[in-house]
Amino acid sequence: MASQEWLEKDFYAMLGVPQDASKKDIERAYRKLARELHPDHNPEPTAEERFKGVSEAYSVLHDDKARAEYDQIQLMKTGRGGFGGMHGGGGGVNFEDLFGNPASSGGFSDLFGDLFSRGSGGAHRRRSGAQRGNDLRTHITLDFADAVKGTTADIRMRAPGECETCHGSGAKPGTAPSTCTRCGGRGLVTENQGAFSFAQPCPECEGTGTVVADPCADCGGTGATTRDRVITVRVPAGIGDGQSIRLAGRGAPGERGGPAGDLLVKVAVRSHPLFARDGDNLTLRLPVAFPEAAMGAKVKVPTLDGPVTLKIPESTPTGRVLRVKGRGVPGKGDLLVTIDVEVPQGLSAEAREALEKYAAAAPAADRSKLEELTGQ
Ligand code: ZN
Ligand code: ZN
Repeated sequence: MASQEWLEKDFYAMLGVPQDASKKDIERAYRKLARELHPDHNPEPTAEERFKGVSEAYSVLHDDKARAEYDQIQLMKTGRGGFGGMHGGGGGVNFEDLFGNPASSGGFSDLFGDLFSRGSGGAHRRRSGAQRGNDLRTHITLDFADAVKGTTADIRMRAPGECETCHGSGAKPGTAPSTCTRCGGRGLVTENQGAFSFAQPCPECEGTGTVVADPCADCGGTGATTRDRVITVRVPAGIGDGQSIRLAGRGAPGERGGPAGDLLVKVAVRSHPLFARDGDNLTLRLPVAFPEAAMGAKVKVPTLDGPVTLKIPESTPTGRVLRVKGRGVPGKGDLLVTIDVEVPQGLSAEAREALEKYAAAAPAADRSKLEELTGQ
């Protein structure tokens, strides 16, 4: 029986859906998060753990019977003064423990921590009315060199954002939201039913603790407008094709005092005619003439920061990889040069003559292994 575990987990917050979310909403939220966190696609080290948590939340909330049972357990907790009575740092469940402490980045606290830390006076109070804004998605295409070295890019997108007129308060400029008189700003009203007292979101202010008497005309009091936005993204050096950058709090604004969602920027990287990537290293094929490979040579090699001279040692076979230190992803990678010994095409009479002389003097190719192993 999972009740003890269930008591301590907020599956709704894990999926970022309200408690009255429909089955469809739950499905949609799960699919989105699962796609985002799947360990095959998400290189972040915490992704797998989060993926598991989200999967568990979904398996419970998607099953009508399990969800009813879970809701019942959560209700008991509210009755005990858990959720509802948790202001002022009183006892109950410690969300910091559940979602990872703030020092360990990348846990659920990054995604959902704000849900629990909002509220007046820094109290850890869960407001059922507050809803985290949706995550938004967009994509950018980067040049090969920009992806290697890192860059900043401006993204233009039409998306919901904080209303610029009222700065998200929803109140007409010059006015301010006032404290809800019904709940005194708590956002919760308590109902006594027998032995239990149930804390409910305040119906007057929908759990926000404030009411807007004079709504902003531009956003109709919602605090959000959809408009053309320009968002500057800092792209870290070494980002790979298909990876995503998460901009926390740059997604759609939250509702009823909830935190904004995140903006996920999927990165595509254009290929380069010469260079390719191998993790943090760059790779390059270098054509080398047979005499250079046989006798050794110094060859000019291009890099993303101008040419370098590469020393090819005597007797370098084709396929050997030579390393040019520090010419890959800055501070992380090298340039790996694969030697490609060329066979001369269209020999001149002079070259042929020289090659015949060479052939007479050179040792024959060593094919003894072939004979030895096959007897042919
Ligand atoms: Zn507004
Ligand atoms: Zn209220």
